[in-house]
Amino acid sequence: MTGKLTDRVALVTGASSGIGEATALALAKASARVALVGRREERLRSVAEMIRTEGGEARVYVADLVDEAAASQVVRDCEADFGRLDILVNNAGVMYLEPVLTADLGRWRQMIELNLLSLIAATQAALPGMKQRGEGHIINIASTAGRIANPNGAGYSATKFGVVAFSEALRKEVHADRIRVTVIEPGLVATELREHIADKAVQGAINAWADSLRQLQSEDIADAVVYCATRPAHVAINEMLIRPTDQER
Ligand code: NAD
Repeated sequence: MTGKLTDRVALVTGASSGIGEATALALAKASARVALVGRREERLRSVAEMIRTEGGEARVYVADLVDEAAASQVVRDCEADFGRLDILVNNAGVMYLEPVLTADLGRWRQMIELNLLSLIAATQAALPGMKQRGEGHIINIASTAGRIANPNGAGYSATKFGVVAFSEALRKEVHADRIRVTVIEPGLVATELREHIADKAVQGAINAWADSLRQLQSEDIADAVVYCATRPAHVAINEMLIRPTDQER
């Protein structure tokens, strides 16, 4: 395959479903060699198979990214197997929406570890190789919830505001090494994300809201990732906030 990302290696976390799966497929279509990271081996293998059927290259890495050491390790394994890592897409995440008053802090701890700490660890592990090559691209999937906080979203927004702040500071630290940092902030996307909300009243309310408008599809976000990753080296898209046209807040 020849495309804009020929010979580039991209790692996508949470590649077994939703935005991560669509992004892995889209990057492979642009000719990137892709590392697929997640917990669900069967689903990752089927995504890898789709990529190979189209003539692309993909490898599967099974890891539970609640453990930040696993996030660092998977980046090192990918670099060892592919010989380099050019594009890191930190996408894996969970959204446990519930009021502060009744929040399960054990659950929130896992969300903070996955959405924020693991993203930081994977980024830290990717930087030395990128710095050495004098180029690289970190793409972090945040959320509109990383810009606007609403009731029931205190914990989730804390992680996504954190991702936005981390990305902005990181950009200032690494731009001189020609490492690009992009934060993508999707609004409502039709994925499995909402299935894991334990508070059924909160889940019902957000599902009703989602049903009331035309949501984004995972492919819409994957397109944005590929757009950012395929700009010429002197162009850094630092931030992209993408809502469904119907979504007000
Ligand atoms: P999704 O549930 O389909 O994808 C989340 C991915 O993360 C899955 O592949 C899941 O297996 C993986 N994951 C979850 N826990 C993990 C763990 N412990 N270790 C490794 N992988 C783990 O939902 P999605 O909407 O595609 O979510 C992807 C990202 O997009 C998340 O960071 C989410 O916060 C963000 N986002 C989603 C929306 C939306 O409306 N769907 C909006 C804004 C931002």
